[in-house]
Amino acid sequence: MGVLAFLIGPMQIPEHAPLTPQQRTTLNSVLPGLSESQSVWLSGFLAGAQSQSGGTTATAPAASVPMTVLYGTESGNAEALAERAAKAAKAKGFAAKIKNMADIKVKDLATFENMLVIVSTWGDGDPPDAAVDFHSTLMGDGAPKMSGVEFSVCALGDTSYTQFCKTGKDFDNRLEALGGKRLSDRVDCDVDFEDAFQGWLDASLKAFGAKVSGAPAAAVGGPVVPSGGVFDKKHPFPSELLDRCSLTGEGSSKETIHLELSLAGSGMSYDAGDALAVIPTNRTEDVEGILKATGFSGDETVTLPKGGERKLLDALTSDLDVTHLTKPILEKYNKLAASDRIAEIVSKGHSDELHEYLHGRQLVDALEEFPIKGLKPNDFVGILRKMPPRLYSIASSQKAHPDEVHLTVGVVRYNTHEKGRVGVCSTYMSDRVGVGETMPVYVHHNKNFRLPADNDTPTIMVGPGTGIAPFRSFVEEREAIGAKGKNWLFFGERNYNFDFLYQLEWQEHLKSGGLNRLDVAFSRDQKKKIYVQDRLLQRADDVWKWLEDGAHFYVCGDAANMAGDVHEALLQIAQKQGGKSAEDAQAWIADLKKSKRYQRDVY
Ligand code: NAP
Repeated sequence: MGVLAFLIGPMQIPEHAPLTPQQRTTLNSVLPGLSESQSVWLSGFLAGAQSQSGGTTATAPAASVPMTVLYGTESGNAEALAERAAKAAKAKGFAAKIKNMADIKVKDLATFENMLVIVSTWGDGDPPDAAVDFHSTLMGDGAPKMSGVEFSVCALGDTSYTQFCKTGKDFDNRLEALGGKRLSDRVDCDVDFEDAFQGWLDASLKAFGAKVSGAPAAAVGGPVVPSGGVFDKKHPFPSELLDRCSLTGEGSSKETIHLELSLAGSGMSYDAGDALAVIPTNRTEDVEGILKATGFSGDETVTLPKGGERKLLDALTSDLDVTHLTKPILEKYNKLAASDRIAEIVSKGHSDELHEYLHGRQLVDALEEFPIKGLKPNDFVGILRKMPPRLYSIASSQKAHPDEVHLTVGVVRYNTHEKGRVGVCSTYMSDRVGVGETMPVYVHHNKNFRLPADNDTPTIMVGPGTGIAPFRSFVEEREAIGAKGKNWLFFGERNYNFDFLYQLEWQEHLKSGGLNRLDVAFSRDQKKKIYVQDRLLQRADDVWKWLEDGAHFYVCGDAANMAGDVHEALLQIAQKQGGKSAEDAQAWIADLKKSKRYQRDVY
């Protein structure tokens, strides 16, 4: 209800108002005595305050200048930021709407006069899954002219990948090449995107701002609405580790663990398909390696960009990423090192030489190879990025475990450049947090990976390795709500004897009817490898029937190879079983995606 509706009218706060009895009594003692002009002033004051906090106001003039916030999202960050940008644009007086690249056509772009684009990049320079078609059409010959379009692009990415923010750069260049006018410069954001995004949003809305006159003054932005409750990246919840066990048997070539964490008292909620963000600390050996290579003791006091003063040892352990070596870090380091060799490595852009140098190396390797005499602790921490949270697909249903969240984690340990290396977060969870201790977490919603809205709809789930995680959540969820839709799981791992993750649970679900079919592919139990896509093709007849019956098709796990191979298998099934031409099969799969019946959570 608008503020005015409360104050201009009976001048009595009704009993159903969301106020305490004491607040109601206090207001009712003041309001009836107000003059008309005092009431108007007060209502304007409250409306202004509401507007400052980003809410809509009853007094705001009707916005007439359109603004489209176009987003392409994989994990949900770009979507959350698009919502925030639209809210800020509305507060500036624009009639702002958000559009998902998955839902519109490229030709629609030409009709958007004012456009903010927020898009992420995945893997080695790929667009988000749901934006692949949109991106390729925009890049293609048939893309429309954009002469009436004014735009600004915010690119989301991760500097640890060589093709940092490539998709955002593609959009930015292509929109200009097609005749669009860049009103504000593109900003490329690293995993810690908050400040860079806010800077871009402020600058863009300022650049577009001249188009709206008499708009209500309003604060732009504010923090991203925390997902899953009041906890977020800046304010994570200290979640107690309740239990941890190995999912892989003794003798396995892999180390996959199951974790159960407590959400008791947090008020955090999650849906099947969501992810849990975990903020790890670094391994002692890695921190010591950095101290040794730089010659610091760790007792030095450093000033972090936003974290005030810290002892260097603490900053390196908890606040900063001390392992990733990226081109931007090398560039920053070379401002201090002035090494011709580093300059040569980074000067070649995304060359093979740069890639080859970075491959398998960590920050400590560069520090050892190119030491700096007299390096200052503050200069050193200035080149490092903040510790990024890691996302893990949640492996439980909150309906089945109300105060808990479960994870399935592959523990990463390997050797490169004659050194033993580990995954920072996976070993944090396996080695450094004890049962009964807490770890900082928050929920990251993923609206792009959801069970069918209709509980009668069948599902086909393909999740080899740790890709099984969200399907444990799906099956638990469907059992908990008594969904009638049939569920078919395809699981793959190396060996039946050691790596059949959650085997007993699947058997229970098969008995109880929570799972209707299970097909497994153990790749290393025979000479010729068998993968989940081989099983899909062997069952092509039934897979096609299920799809014809409206089944939703889900894939989770390895993005580099498995997801593409499963996609290919699906195309083959559409051709062989559905009698479609290669072209029609592509169109069919695009439709499947568009209608959200084909969803992927791949890394
Ligand atoms: P994985 O490496 O994907 O292995 C699982 C099974 O898939 C193995 O039998 C493997 O066989 C097989 N495989 C290899 N190439 C394949 C292909 N092209 N098509 C189909 N199957 C193939 O399992 P993981 O170690 O558990 O890692 C899973 C992937 O998910 C990783 O890429 C990881 O980055 C990602 N991941 C996702 C999450 C998440 O939360 N969604 C979490 C952690 C990891 P062989 O090894 O015998 O060839």
